[in-house]
Amino acid sequence: MKTIIKNAKIYTLQGIKHSITIEDGKIIGFDEAQRAEQQIDAQGKTVLAGFHDSHMHLLSIGRMLSILRLQEAKSIDDIVRLGRQYILDNPNKDHIIGRGWNQDYFTDAPVMPTKDDLDKICADKPIVFTRVCGHIGVANSKALDVAGVTKDTPNPNGGVFVRDANGIPNGILHETALGYVQSIFPEISEAEIEEYFRKAMDYVSALGITAVQTNDLFEYNHDKVLGALNRLEKNGELKVRVFHQFTYENEQALDMFLEEWASSELFSDRHRLVALKLFKDGSLGARTALTRKPYNDDPTTCGVDTLPDEKIKSLGLIAKKHNLPLIVHAIGDWAVAHTIDIMAAINDAGNPLRSGIVHHQITDLDLLKKTAEHNLHVFYQPIFLHYDLHIVADRVGKELAATSYAFKTQMDLGAHTSYGTDAPIEDPNPLECLYCAVTRKDLKGNPPEGFMPLEKVTVAEALSNYSEESAYAIRMEDRLGRLDIGHYADLVILSDDPYEVKPDDIKDIQVLMTMMNGEVTFDKLGFAEP
Ligand SMILES: [Zn+2]
Repeated sequence: MKTIIKNAKIYTLQGIKHSITIEDGKIIGFDEAQRAEQQIDAQGKTVLAGFHDSHMHLLSIGRMLSILRLQEAKSIDDIVRLGRQYILDNPNKDHIIGRGWNQDYFTDAPVMPTKDDLDKICADKPIVFTRVCGHIGVANSKALDVAGVTKDTPNPNGGVFVRDANGIPNGILHETALGYVQSIFPEISEAEIEEYFRKAMDYVSALGITAVQTNDLFEYNHDKVLGALNRLEKNGELKVRVFHQFTYENEQALDMFLEEWASSELFSDRHRLVALKLFKDGSLGARTALTRKPYNDDPTTCGVDTLPDEKIKSLGLIAKKHNLPLIVHAIGDWAVAHTIDIMAAINDAGNPLRSGIVHHQITDLDLLKKTAEHNLHVFYQPIFLHYDLHIVADRVGKELAATSYAFKTQMDLGAHTSYGTDAPIEDPNPLECLYCAVTRKDLKGNPPEGFMPLEKVTVAEALSNYSEESAYAIRMEDRLGRLDIGHYADLVILSDDPYEVKPDDIKDIQVLMTMMNGEVTFDKLGFAEP
């Protein structure tokens, strides 16, 4: 089918065009007199390449839309109230899963809830509420009971059962200790996974997203995740391109998985494996990011090393054997430094597979230079500034904070950088994320001059990092990420032109229509209706 979008303001490499012709999912021309089966009148609005989130968790977004959401909790009392209400609304659930609380947003005191608080919600059903970061959670006494966690239970590798003065676990769970307790819950079924993906794709396509690099696939769920997505693709229900940043921590299992799947014909430009994703540390908010010096606001800790360097190397080499890059979650400066060394050791010269670092938050100039020198791709989440600009100096000190979240310097040093949101850690809204990159302010507009204002990027740079550079990360820049002839017709129609509104107003721009592969996936005003 041929489609024309006319009466539009279309940003292309060859300047602004006014109509775009699309056939079989690809762009075939601009400003041509063409007949088409479908005509879309954009009413003079701005058309840009579709947003491509280069690191998120699509399945978790769907799950988040299906469990108790705790983002709004402003106190521990709120958490208790929301939990009680959820039980009243869902009397048949035999266990309660929630996510999204953040003690730094509490208006009374920034204290994490413990099992005693959750016991007030319910004593006879297990409850686990994960913090917004996903690296910390809290369980009630029933959940600890069922999981067999007592005073005598040793901490699992890479995790901590936080304890009171008497050594009794208080319900707070760090890293693998969280997984240890969550393993009491029944595994989600393939049908549930399919439903979560459907919900998540509806949600993100309404935000203008046409592609995601997503970390949903693990050793324990790969059959179900790939099964669900292959079925959705076959049924024409894939509303966004799904590129897997998959996680495997066992060499043999990884090798077997890649033998079976890496070159599978089931994969396409809409759905495929793109990178092995491993974790070197936790999060800054939870003080589990791995730092070279003890935390400025808690000298007893330097964070948590979640996977030894040697292990990351051997897993990365297996991915390389199958022609896939390694990307590593590294937030603290120690984690970033070690990840650079690991990649320098295993990558071929010039980094042709485009291995990279996800988050790359706490850095000094030397680390930024090394990242560029080794040509490592950097996956940034500018929306993290909304929260982190208020805590980073407390966590790591003023000096290191000043060279962290160095979006502009890292680009100017020559590294490829792409943007994303790590949703559901943050909302996947690309316009809010672009606003943070361009203004360096939180969503309330603070600080007025922006945090480290020299690190502001231009609107053009920010948009490129949300489309072209995301495609670059997965070696698809020849056909994805730009409005250009021969490229996939992945695009958005926006209410306002981000190049023309005040930077502060970028976050308020509305997505009016989203198109992926030439198909309309979201249409707020009925542009595509005949
Ligand atoms: Zn993530």
